[in-house]
Amino acid sequence: MFDKILIANRGEIALRVIRACREMGIASVAVHSTADADAMHVLMADESVCIGPPPSGQSYLSMPAIISACEITGAQAVHPGYGFLSENAGFVQMLEDHDITFIGPRAEHIRIMGDKITAKDTMKALGVPCVPGSEGGVNDVDEAVKVAAEIGYPVIIKATAGGGGRGMKVAQDEKGLEVAFRTARAEAKAAFGNPDVYIEKYLQKPRHIEVQVFGDGKGRAVHLGERDCSLQRRHQKVLEEAPGPIITPEERARIGKVCSDAVAKIGYAGAGTIEFLYEDGEFYFIEMNTRLQVEHPVTEAIFGVDLVRQQILVAAGQEMEFSQDDLTIRGHAIEVRINAEKLPNFAPSPGKITQYHSPGGLGVRVDSALYDGYSIPPYYDSLIGKLIVHGRDRPEALARLDRALGELIVDGVETTTQLFRDLLQEPDIQSGNYSIHWLERWLEQRYANAG
Ligand code: ADP
Repeated sequence: MFDKILIANRGEIALRVIRACREMGIASVAVHSTADADAMHVLMADESVCIGPPPSGQSYLSMPAIISACEITGAQAVHPGYGFLSENAGFVQMLEDHDITFIGPRAEHIRIMGDKITAKDTMKALGVPCVPGSEGGVNDVDEAVKVAAEIGYPVIIKATAGGGGRGMKVAQDEKGLEVAFRTARAEAKAAFGNPDVYIEKYLQKPRHIEVQVFGDGKGRAVHLGERDCSLQRRHQKVLEEAPGPIITPEERARIGKVCSDAVAKIGYAGAGTIEFLYEDGEFYFIEMNTRLQVEHPVTEAIFGVDLVRQQILVAAGQEMEFSQDDLTIRGHAIEVRINAEKLPNFAPSPGKITQYHSPGGLGVRVDSALYDGYSIPPYYDSLIGKLIVHGRDRPEALARLDRALGELIVDGVETTTQLFRDLLQEPDIQSGNYSIHWLERWLEQRYANAG
């Protein structure tokens, strides 16, 4: 087992990893930019190293700086968290060249899943159902028109290098396709340095259902059920729950097995998430994330497992601590993402926290790097905390969520807390009746006159 792990991240996820390390008796090293010198992950880690100025390109994304930090501190492994370098195959390679272990899958698997066209081809070959669409990339408008006519409108044009909900354009008909195709390519080139796009059938009312998988890297893999992440704004998740409110035990077992078999077959190591759109009883693969997800705590809650601990064990060459038969679901969990943002436009709201009070009590987990007097820097993601509740069933989890949100105090900046209290008043949220478009429509109606 490792003696010391460096966490190449910040915020709540860095804390999450430090906590797992501490319980395993492993020393932790935080890295930080100059803007984060007094951040919670720095205060909580056993050691810390400043790796650069505020812009993440020169700090949290600087591979040489992170490798130097490993060498200075003697860290034998790096946990990347999510975002930043977590899905960067070049980083994994560079660590390997320096004899440092990456806590995550092999570079090869990150590379395959990082290119969405290759990912889809791979998954299709492994027997995973995919969204109908182009065979591989689409290079010009004429080809796009032909493909779209075959699969039928509406269609969505997606960047093969895409991520974070960017680089996607919907076309309702042939007239709209040409513009959508050109803008998607231009945006993909600007955002990801790769203009390649592909086309998929645009599903009208799907839910976003993702399956948590875990592999030991030696051909054994399990699934930990699904999460429903359909409540989205601009293709970004806002609230997640597990199990999915409309997924039956039979569907779970079936799609779960398809997913665990697929990752077992490729010898996948560590945590991964296979994302699907779900409509009329069918699952359609959209992408695989080769890292820990923001929303992993809802899965941890219902299965009672520590996913980061398992990641560390597998990276150290040990066995994961469960087999498929050990994994049973207990109750229902919901996570909401508390962002420092001002509604209705969700504009970032950095600044000094003048008062912070975290909710508690039975079935409440708060993963946050906030503290009284902390100043949220303007340079990074606006996620400041995650509130996760666990109940015996969905109604209990919903009631607990409302109760816990009522206890949360974050003064000094604007947050998305009230949004969730308002959402909990909605019959569709109470009954679990929502698709990926529900939230956007609700926001439009609610704030139609708010400017
Ligand atoms: P990213 O990697 O940018 O997150 P994804 O492929 O995971 O992109 O898609 C993100 C979201 O975009 C999905 O959760 C869904 O809301 C929407 N989306 C993607 N593909 C389709 C599709 N074929 N039809 C309808 N919505 C889609």
